[in-house]
Amino acid sequence: MTYLTVPIAAENLEQAKQQIKTALVAGAEMLELRTDYLENLSVALVKELIGLAQTTASGRKIHLIVTCRDQQQGGARDYPQQLRIDVLAAALKAGVGFIDIEFENFVRTESQERIRVALSQSVKGRVILSAHNFNTKFDGLKKLYRNILNLYPAAIPKLIYTANHINDCFEAFDLLYQTGGERIIFCMGQAGLISRIIAKKLGSFVTFASIDEQNATAPGQLTVSQLKGLYRYDSIGSDTELFGVIADPVGHSLSPAIHNACFAEKKMSKLYLPFLVQGGQEGFDKFLNNVLSRRWLNFKGFSVTIPHKGNALNYARAKHGFVEPLAETIGAVNTLVIGAEDKLAAYNTDYAAALDSITSVRHGGKIKKAGLKKMPVAVIGAGGVARAIVAGLSDAGAKIKIYNRTIERAERLASEFSCEFAGLDDLQNIKAKLLINCTSIGMHPEMEATPVPKECLKKDMVVFDTVYNPAKTQLLKQARRKRLKTIDGLTMFVNQGLAQFKLFTGQKGNIKLMRETITNLL
Ligand code: NAP
Repeated sequence: MTYLTVPIAAENLEQAKQQIKTALVAGAEMLELRTDYLENLSVALVKELIGLAQTTASGRKIHLIVTCRDQQQGGARDYPQQLRIDVLAAALKAGVGFIDIEFENFVRTESQERIRVALSQSVKGRVILSAHNFNTKFDGLKKLYRNILNLYPAAIPKLIYTANHINDCFEAFDLLYQTGGERIIFCMGQAGLISRIIAKKLGSFVTFASIDEQNATAPGQLTVSQLKGLYRYDSIGSDTELFGVIADPVGHSLSPAIHNACFAEKKMSKLYLPFLVQGGQEGFDKFLNNVLSRRWLNFKGFSVTIPHKGNALNYARAKHGFVEPLAETIGAVNTLVIGAEDKLAAYNTDYAAALDSITSVRHGGKIKKAGLKKMPVAVIGAGGVARAIVAGLSDAGAKIKIYNRTIERAERLASEFSCEFAGLDDLQNIKAKLLINCTSIGMHPEMEATPVPKECLKKDMVVFDTVYNPAKTQLLKQARRKRLKTIDGLTMFVNQGLAQFKLFTGQKGNIKLMRETITNLL
């Protein structure tokens, strides 16, 4: 059992009451009363706070941890050690299930004696002995874990450190995997975010979440609604398979929302997470090596995006995995699947998603893939997405002209796929049946911008904008005003998500659910 624990970090009882109510409504299973946040701390005030938590829960079984954190280890106020120990002893006497004290302070003989006596007089009280490193990993995590239990075998060890890179999380996973019983181990910071969720899969005694972002008590702490909604906390079990998007940055990614919504709809024991992988090829390789050397973590597949699409291809090649031929041609991989015996398979669903988007539009009957043969197509942009689309369209036999701001880049891409190329000013002479914007122009927040002057949009042209935030870009609005057929970037995004879902699960994803999920987020 992993208790979803919400810290109550209030300055007074009035604030505490509000926070407790909100935490209970949100679905907290345990409350951590952070008494170090209280103004004018006293034993009497803490007893009142405990009473308040018990009455507010009224009848509902809610576990309580009382903590009075030392400021040296992240406490909110500088209360003296003596008062902090008095508070913890009083909490045990008042019948709370758990107190949390810093291992370093517990070791001090006088504190230890008081806490040991208070514990022996309490019927059900347990002690959490905690250690925090706010800067980096512990020097000897396992040793610290053993030292805690050697000193007080009935303690619940709590070891929390800052992950400066996602690869730092694996030491915490290893310790959770190698140990049993009640223990709390995870990482702080953005790079440690996944450890707060995976903690449940690996049986950590608690994981912490805040009622909202303002009330987070540690860096990287998620809110209860993110944990329960977006990350399907209630469905996580030891057998849950892990998926996710590898990117840097990753915070803006919509992929966790769409994949988790589809996993939830099909009641699958699968979870999709954001993996912030920094450090280029080296960081990427280490992350994948960490994943593949721990089969028990049950990682099964990844979406891969900027800046790792080339790194993923290199990795798959180096591991002698299967690489889809067109992904080789494009020089980029956006999907990795981990099969039996850790066999890797690498794909690029971007080009297929773009082709599916084009062939789904009705333009005097559906555009068929065969109909793309010899079709004059204008591709605006020469970056990663343009490359995937040019490769796909050139495979289908289209007659492509690439327009780009940096003409040398257009020339390079054009020479690889035997296309024509030009600068953006040449759009005035455009003669294409299909126009595709593969630049970021028009994307939030510069939504008034368009890559193509409206006079260049010709009768009978189909206009496709790969930008999906917003879905109705200025380019598409102008095309609609001219009654042209349009395809939005959301369609392509959902199509590539569906293709990945199929590769991850072997099943068809729910297109309507994916589209609705994204629309609600944008
Ligand atoms: P990229 O590799 O960085 O390429 C960006 C392209 O945009 C380059 O051609 C660049 O021209 C051009 N560009 C950027 N700012 C410009 C400006 N102010 N004026 C003129 N040209 C400009 O990025 P990418 O990975 O190809 O992604 C491009 C866009 O595709 C993204 O912004 C996103 O909206 C969209 N996208 C959509 C999906 C989907 O599923 N719908 C998926 C991924 C991406 P230069 O070469 O001159 O720099």
